Amino acid sequence: MQTGGCADRPVALGRSALGWTAPGGGRKLPGMTERVPQDRAGTAGTCRADVLRANVLRAEVLILGGGMVGLSLALALGGAGLAVVLVDRNDPAEVVAAPYDGRASAIAYGSRRVLDGLGAWAGMAGAAEPILDIRVSDGDAPLFLHYDHRALGEEPLGHIVENRAIRQALHARLAEVAAIDLRAPARLADIAFAPGGVTATLGDGARIRASLVVAADGRDSALRERAGIPVTRWRYKQTGIVCTMGHARPHRGVAHERFLPAGPFAVLPMTDNPDGPAQGHRSSIVWTEDERLAPAMMALDDDAFSAELARRFGPYYGEVRVLGGRWSYPLSLLHADRYVAPRLALVGDAAHAIHPIAGQGLNLGIRGVAALAEVLVEAARLGLDIGGAEALARYERWRRFDAMALVAVTDGLNRLFSNAIPPVRLIRDLGLAGVNLAAPAKRFFMRHAMGMVGDLPRLMKGERL
Ligand SMILES: Cc1cc2nc3c(=O)[nH]c(=O)nc-3n(C[C@H](O)[C@H](O)[C@H](O)COP(=O)(O)OP(=O)(O)OC[C@H]3O[C@@H](n4cnc5c(N)ncnc54)[C@H](O)[C@@H]3O)c2cc1C
Repeated sequence: MQTGGCADRPVALGRSALGWTAPGGGRKLPGMTERVPQDRAGTAGTCRADVLRANVLRAEVLILGGGMVGLSLALALGGAGLAVVLVDRNDPAEVVAAPYDGRASAIAYGSRRVLDGLGAWAGMAGAAEPILDIRVSDGDAPLFLHYDHRALGEEPLGHIVENRAIRQALHARLAEVAAIDLRAPARLADIAFAPGGVTATLGDGARIRASLVVAADGRDSALRERAGIPVTRWRYKQTGIVCTMGHARPHRGVAHERFLPAGPFAVLPMTDNPDGPAQGHRSSIVWTEDERLAPAMMALDDDAFSAELARRFGPYYGEVRVLGGRWSYPLSLLHADRYVAPRLALVGDAAHAIHPIAGQGLNLGIRGVAALAEVLVEAARLGLDIGGAEALARYERWRRFDAMALVAVTDGLNRLFSNAIPPVRLIRDLGLAGVNLAAPAKRFFMRHAMGMVGDLPRLMKGERL
């Protein structure tokens, strides 16, 4: 048996000759030349790991983390023709299965436009319930804030979509974009940064060379840590309990947020139960609870848990019942001191993770995706280095202030509302009522919640990249 062909040797690379796709791994990109190593072509018994080691897959952007943000970025860049390798540690079949994530997300109007521009919205539209009204109340106080979508026109304020449906639609679209090479489940074993690019080695020995690596690997981002980027972070001592609630009366597209002393309790309108009429109307619950009490609530049987839901929301929904599983998430804030480092950009929760009080974490991530994709695609079209300092600085300048503002606002709102101190309560209730009466302020906040304020990237304006 010939073994000499297994030696690890460098492969000549060029920006347009994207190299060779590893066997059993990704798809071949259009225009890619397949470099057939001698040992692969002619040697019997050549081991796969050795073949993988001996070859380098060339991409323009390597994305680590295929959550909703990483998937969206891959679609934005791949759809514009950039060669992308997307790596995630989880099996795609698992992340779209029910137990993985019980959350539904409030997708703001601007984010819907982005998902539409990526060709992914159509795949989730059937599972998306329009938000027509938002009602914000403070416990049992009579003063409240009411947003009605008709104050701005015909468009709903946003949609509620189960995360599972979002992931399904993003993965389905991903399979149609030839420029994206998905490696999942896969592990990043090593990454080397050099002035001209990065070289990553995966657990199976595959090597990828790219001009830029994007960390979309969530709030505990290993890449962010590897780059030594400091963060500001704290725990909220609150737990987000999430489940789906079936209810007898229709929700009429109304999202409720009620502030209780332990934190906000949100009831978000979902599409009706596809499985039948019993409690056929559904809403997604995000129940913020004191972290010391949450385990006891999670341990209740379905009857007692459903009674707790009813106790917090009175008779508005008629008879209510928890449907399916329950999930709990420790809540925390995180903000990275920098969103970029040489040859590295942070996006999504890897850059900023916020309290779910306003349902904006993913929306913020999608906004970052739209901005980063625009910067990179423009740089590529101008023949500039897409991983160069200039492009990265533009991305950071564009996103930092907006994201920091939302981090601060959500943190402030949580502090203001998650207590029962009488003078604080009086001030915030007057504030709610004041905004409710001041039509221009109300319209501004509505446009903000819809993601339509500020220096919007093209995808958020409904334009092509
Ligand atoms: C209770 C709750 C309710 C929420 N509701 C809303 C809402 O209504 N609207 C909204 O906009 N936002 C909401 N959010 C926030 C939103 O869920 C997050 O902002 C969003 O999921 C972040 O997505 P991401 O892709 O950046 O990160 P993640 O979802 O954390 O994805 C990270 C990905 O990286 C992968 N990964 C991590 N490390 C590695 C590694 N070393 N190698 C390979 N892969 C790796 C993981 O497998 C994962 O797929 C809510 C959050 C909570 C907790």
